[in-house]
Amino acid sequence: VPLGEFDLIAKYFTRRSARTDVLLGVGDDAALLAVPPGRVLVAATDTLVEGRHFLAGTPPGSIGHNALAVNLSDLAAMGAEPAWALLSLSLPSPDESWLEQFAGGLLALADSFGVALVGGDTVRGPLVVTVEVLGFVEPTRALRRSGARPGDLLYVSGWPGESAAGLEILRRTGRFDETADPLVRRHLFAEPRVALGRELGGLASAAMDVSDGLLGDLRKLCAASGAGATLELESLPVSAALRARCTPAECEHWVLAGGDDYELLFTAPASAQAAIESLDRDAAAGGRPRLTRIGRIEAGQAVRCTRAGRAVDVAEAGFDHFV
Ligand code: ADP
Ligand code: MG
Repeated sequence: VPLGEFDLIAKYFTRRSARTDVLLGVGDDAALLAVPPGRVLVAATDTLVEGRHFLAGTPPGSIGHNALAVNLSDLAAMGAEPAWALLSLSLPSPDESWLEQFAGGLLALADSFGVALVGGDTVRGPLVVTVEVLGFVEPTRALRRSGARPGDLLYVSGWPGESAAGLEILRRTGRFDETADPLVRRHLFAEPRVALGRELGGLASAAMDVSDGLLGDLRKLCAASGAGATLELESLPVSAALRARCTPAECEHWVLAGGDDYELLFTAPASAQAAIESLDRDAAAGGRPRLTRIGRIEAGQAVRCTRAGRAVDVAEAGFDHFV
């Protein structure tokens, strides 16, 4: 007997949460949630469509994980603390093995960030997963894209490029079980930089999460701030895993244009440099990624790339292959 909608919700998506700010969760017409005094609500939503945002054949645990991870990344980029999530699921059929793995991936990540699933919607249709995440932030610590000023230093967290290289490996091999490969694992299980976003709340002047490629997203941050930037190509972080698999030109291409990184791209005034270097030094102990200074914000509108001080055409930097 196929599982009915109500049984499905009860079995896979209804769980007791330790959060005392969930006054009413799954089961009523809507959830009742208590925002702590002195903070503002932060809300983000993202939709993943099979064949467009993930390959057909992607393990359900990865789909569940990433559907939540991309939303947590948006909250991280605001400097916010995630609290609650809603899940809207369109499913071709109520396949129990699929549901168990999907819910397992989503709820394991939710648990690791103390996030409660408080509602959603379940319908029959093509495979489409929409998650909304709610959280909160002190209004003075919210990170916007628009705060970068000429003279600010430009940073990126972690290892941009790994996820896109992992996707390329998956496309070529179709081996979704290769999670021992760090590039494949990075693509299938994104790591939202929530702890870093919280730390940057008092330090960064602007931030965004990198989802469409570092260079393109830098242009968006600059446009929002009414500023330009210089990106120093020789400073870009290239992980050991990426370096081991790709030529230097390929590495640069993935780092600049790859996408699905979910790293934080942020700017800070020179007065915050020492504090950011200390975050970088204690990265592993604080559960945070390494931080790399990759350039600076400039007056004007232009986003320029340099290599050892010389201007470089971005097409030459390996960006054109992707457009
Ligand atoms: P309604 O018809 O009032 O929208 P639903 O039958 O869609 O009610 O949902 C019943 C309850 O189950 C609601 O609390 C809703 O938020 C929750 N819910 C439905 N689908 C999901 C899901 N996939 N994950 C979590 N909660 C869900
Ligand atoms: Mg409904």
